[in-house]
Amino acid sequence: MARYTYGPNDDSRFPYRANRDGAVFQTEHAAVNYCQMWNDYYNAMRPIDDVPLELSRVDYDRICTELGVEVLSDVDITGPFHYAVRNGDFAPRLEGEEIGGYPPAHCQEMAMARRRLRAIMKERESQPAVSRPQPELVRCSCGHSVARQLVMTASLGTACPDCYDEMSG
Ligand SMILES: [Zn+2]
Repeated sequence: MARYTYGPNDDSRFPYRANRDGAVFQTEHAAVNYCQMWNDYYNAMRPIDDVPLELSRVDYDRICTELGVEVLSDVDITGPFHYAVRNGDFAPRLEGEEIGGYPPAHCQEMAMARRRLRAIMKERESQPAVSRPQPELVRCSCGHSVARQLVMTASLGTACPDCYDEMSG
């Protein structure tokens, strides 16, 4: 389904006009390339429009494979490609009168990677910080082990808060 077509324009300097967005062209060659470029782009991206905006690793792998999109590793998505995946605006464009910019396959790859990246960032947020120190446990005379700052000194020895009264004789 071609969304972009072109027709005549009543400005003699730009005699061709794209129907969809009103872009105008000096030559028919440029108009043809422009329409083909955007039609190819939307045809490639349409199946991705229905894909959830956050993807687990399993879903990402499966959907990429179904759509024939190159699968990137989480390391690639968060490492070398992180900035591009997150901030990049991937679209074709005319360079002069020729089709340039990003090819549809790359736009698909980045659109899928962005969906995976969102989920990775959320997965990381929900994980406890690995560097958080564990409280040092001390075994009290009462027989219980508690964090050092909770150890109480009773007349019969050290005690956890629960046993303090009992250990106070
Ligand atoms: Zn105790």
